[in-house]
Amino acid sequence: MNPSWLLNKNPSGGDQVPEDLSFIGGIPRLPADVPLPSCALCGEPLTFFFQIAFPDGHAWGSRSIALFACTCCADERYLIPEMLEGELAGADIPEGFLTAYQRNFRILPFPTQDGTLRGEYKPKIRFERLLVSPAPSPDAPGNKLGGSPNWLLDDEAPATYASAVPMEFLMQLTDPPRFDLEDEAPPQIRIGLRGKPEPSPHRYYELFIGNRLYFFGTKAGAEPLVYILTQV
Ligand SMILES: [Zn+2]
Repeated sequence: MNPSWLLNKNPSGGDQVPEDLSFIGGIPRLPADVPLPSCALCGEPLTFFFQIAFPDGHAWGSRSIALFACTCCADERYLIPEMLEGELAGADIPEGFLTAYQRNFRILPFPTQDGTLRGEYKPKIRFERLLVSPAPSPDAPGNKLGGSPNWLLDDEAPATYASAVPMEFLMQLTDPPRFDLEDEAPPQIRIGLRGKPEPSPHRYYELFIGNRLYFFGTKAGAEPLVYILTQV
């Protein structure tokens, strides 16, 4: 069985320090040579949402992912990551799909040890430290790394990428966290009730309209690519 770790906010709080490896908001910790991403739809810099350092024993152990998404534009075609066509369970993800589908969001995988705080980024989401702790069982519910996915609906786990590389379950956010804002952060642009983009009245951002998120990654050894799918 795959080992599994629960992912929880640290209730004791505290400011961001360079040793933080898994956290929401604040300043991203990325390799120095990785450009901060911008939105392919509107051109604005993407907002940093969170990053996770996968623990030893996880399929992506010693690797991290950082997730950025646009909060400056809203396009009803791309409120959630583009889905594959046809049957999702056991699907083969076409070559190139996992790069091309990152229009208004970006997932940056990198070796955890290569990360450095990128002080040139001005935080919009308030920093919150995440705690990674062993789960009681691989099928434990809740936000977690590794183990087996707890599907809300049908099993939609993909099988392979580019007909060759096995896809492995990385993590799930079945209880999506709130992304609280810094005081000076602008409101998120969302699709309003009249079907047009407009500023949200809320002082928090939503990632992929708050859907439950399931993350799969290419097997270690292949180019690191992430497939995100949502259920609601
Ligand atoms: Zn945008």
